[in-house]
Amino acid sequence: MNNNSKVLALKYRPQKFDNLIGQEVVAETIINSIKAKKVPNAYLFTGIRGIGKTTIARILAKTLNCPNVIENKCNDICSTCNSISNSSHIDVLEMDAASKTGVDDVRELIEFSRYGPTSSKYKIFIIDEVHMLSKQAFNALLKTLEEPPEYLKFIFATTEIKKIPITVISRCQRFDLTRIKSSELFEYIKKIQIKEGGKISDDALKLIVKISEGSVRDALSLLDRALLTLDSNEELDLKSAQNIFGFFDKTQLIELFEHIFKGDENKVVETYRKIYDQGVEPKVFINDFLELLYYFKNIKFLTLESTNFSLNDDEFKKIQHLSDQIDSNILILFWQFSISTLNELSIVSNQHLSVEMFLIRLMYLSSKKFKKKPEIDDNFVSSKGNPIKKLDNEDQSKTINQIKNIVQEEKISQEVQTDIKSEEKLLIKSFNDLIGVCQKKKS
Ligand SMILES: [Zn+2]
Repeated sequence: MNNNSKVLALKYRPQKFDNLIGQEVVAETIINSIKAKKVPNAYLFTGIRGIGKTTIARILAKTLNCPNVIENKCNDICSTCNSISNSSHIDVLEMDAASKTGVDDVRELIEFSRYGPTSSKYKIFIIDEVHMLSKQAFNALLKTLEEPPEYLKFIFATTEIKKIPITVISRCQRFDLTRIKSSELFEYIKKIQIKEGGKISDDALKLIVKISEGSVRDALSLLDRALLTLDSNEELDLKSAQNIFGFFDKTQLIELFEHIFKGDENKVVETYRKIYDQGVEPKVFINDFLELLYYFKNIKFLTLESTNFSLNDDEFKKIQHLSDQIDSNILILFWQFSISTLNELSIVSNQHLSVEMFLIRLMYLSSKKFKKKPEIDDNFVSSKGNPIKKLDNEDQSKTINQIKNIVQEEKISQEVQTDIKSEEKLLIKSFNDLIGVCQKKKS
């Protein structure tokens, strides 16, 4: 590993527009407007964390003030660019609104703006997390924004555009920075990994891409962690990466789905406990479960790339295959139950048990849903208030036959018959009733 102790996000921070990843359109627009000498009074960059807002703000400040501006060729060699990169340029002031929110801070800044630039063309204020400014601070700022002197330029960055007064937004040229595409981010961190002399498998890198959700900074700090834990002789594979980042194998979750639909209670519990033993938090588990439900429901409209590397090829194919056999209505019901379980987790003391019961509930729900009579279905629909399409009996048995083996089919069929006789109405009135039924079932 490289001895350089600087964190990767700083070490590889782009210093010019050409080095930015994923924000080409923004860069081009800015460069063109500068070339055309149409420089707005204020720029506003918005988007999620770690996609380059402040980086672009600094590059923009350099582009505005660098003597080589139009060609955009200055590679941090001139003193202007250099000092802006180091946040030490006399005419470029950076302020973090997260720590300076008050009207006095803004007044001070405005006072400073009365005098023209010392050494460059423009005096530039970069205000990071600008949404944190107080209302009074915004008002104070607004007056200057309305009629700024020629030499004064503002560059704002924010993760929360909605908190910025519309009067301020309307005076800025606004750029919405997008999340970095998975494939682009993957190529990027792979390149850096190689430069750093790390040995990390592609699947492990894809996991990093997935967790960072399109944020370059997050991806780089995860890569940092991965490189730090790396044993110099071994390649970091997906399994070790999952351990480091507290993620578990999606294959296990897909297996769990299969067991639920087959109605194999032992296997359901056993598989979940295995996942739990890996240290997966119940909330993380349910969220991953929800994600998988989404894939089961929508796999037909997705490509491997559009899952943000959440699934590997095998998992993708397996879900494709299984989803053909599962009724969409069941998946929608599962979704609702998962969401309510997520809420439930904050009020129970033993979350682990709660999740186990949740899975058993789903298992019984799916078998009953297919087997029960249509009028019960109606009841369920009205009590939840959701327009779930009634299934016809033939379809139901066809679907379930495909996914169950014969022994289980018979077993569940018997169980369901007795259940429906004894608990018909109870079962469907409320969620609690369902828990009751499942508990009875378990004992
Ligand atoms: Zn320069």
